[in-house]
Amino acid sequence: MVSSSFRATLLKLGVPEDRLAVLEGKGGVVEGEFEGIRYVRFRDSAKGFRRGTVVFENGDVVLGFPHIKRVVQLGRGIKRVFKNRPFYVEEKVDGYNVRVVKVKDRVLALTRGGFICPFTTERILDFINDEFFKDYPNLVLAGEMAGPESPYIVEGPPYVKEDIEFFLFDIQEKGTGRSLPVEERYKLAEEYGIEQVERFGLFNRSRIDELYDLIERLSREKREGVVMKTPDMKRIAKYVTPYANINDIKIGSHIFFDLPHGYFMGRIKRLAFYLAEKHLRGEEFDEYAKALGKALLRPFVESIHEVANGGEVEEVFTVRVKSISTAHKMVTHFERLGVKIHIEDIEDLGNGYWRITFKRVYPDATREIRELWNGRAF
Ligand code: ATP
Repeated sequence: MVSSSFRATLLKLGVPEDRLAVLEGKGGVVEGEFEGIRYVRFRDSAKGFRRGTVVFENGDVVLGFPHIKRVVQLGRGIKRVFKNRPFYVEEKVDGYNVRVVKVKDRVLALTRGGFICPFTTERILDFINDEFFKDYPNLVLAGEMAGPESPYIVEGPPYVKEDIEFFLFDIQEKGTGRSLPVEERYKLAEEYGIEQVERFGLFNRSRIDELYDLIERLSREKREGVVMKTPDMKRIAKYVTPYANINDIKIGSHIFFDLPHGYFMGRIKRLAFYLAEKHLRGEEFDEYAKALGKALLRPFVESIHEVANGGEVEEVFTVRVKSISTAHKMVTHFERLGVKIHIEDIEDLGNGYWRITFKRVYPDATREIRELWNGRAF
């Protein structure tokens, strides 16, 4: 349910009354609170309000981050998406999506699903200069938080050696969700010293060979892929490296039963299209086939052994916080996401930061493996 004051705000913003009633009925709009800041998040879309949209009490609206179309046949894909238009190529950084926004006097970090993330919000001013929001209170900075010490992602990109970092990839207007043109974003980021995703420049169809080379290099360097964008941000597409497809499978197979089958199928499909597009054969093909088989099987078999020996399927992750209470807020935040984590260890780093170690247990995957191991017939 949404309180009457928020109802009035949403109606004023143009959410049709009947749609609002339906959404409320099925929990598609949910009210939340973070350190005294009340907000509504959209779990479903409604008339221009994309999934993940957040509305604040003062009427500020931050639209959900839009879906980016994926191409799996790079050459034909870019032909189809961009026709003859030039497009900028940027690194697709492997982390989690945040939208950073100033509401009244607080800079907040929103997750893709529209939660205010306690961890990212506490850390965000380590990476972004507040001056930006003093000058542009109406803009939203969208970027990837990436690194080995992340609450949501198991691994980070190879060049973030410790902790976590923010990489800007979009600037949007509050209310409309309209993106600034690419060059304008590059300029603003430089002006305010905001770290950006790596930029590889302006391409077009005739430079496809360079794009293939770039993908090969990124894959060798264990990086996730590219996002391609027309200068006006009207057409956007992503492409992921074979490395990332296999590595995601490796990470996922550890918790095989907790992921939908589509997680694995999608990545196998993308890898198959890569191998076909590059006409890989012989030894090179065999190497990929072996890597895929190992990625799919090894962590899965390890998890079975773990459970067979009385253990559980679990993941351990660490994050750095300034206040221990932020760690407790993360436990509550994960609970709201339906995920159980607990704090395993707290270490004073002596520089104003604490390193918190969390453990996440996967009860469903553990139960499933235990039963099958114990001989359940089906
Ligand atoms: P989608 O809703 O687009 O299907 P998804 O949740 O499945 O997304 P991905 O397939 O990982 O996510 O790809 C999209 C995400 O990639 C974006 O939401 C963003 O967080 C991330 N990303 C990393 N680098 C960039 C970049 N340079 N430009 C745009 N997005 C980027």
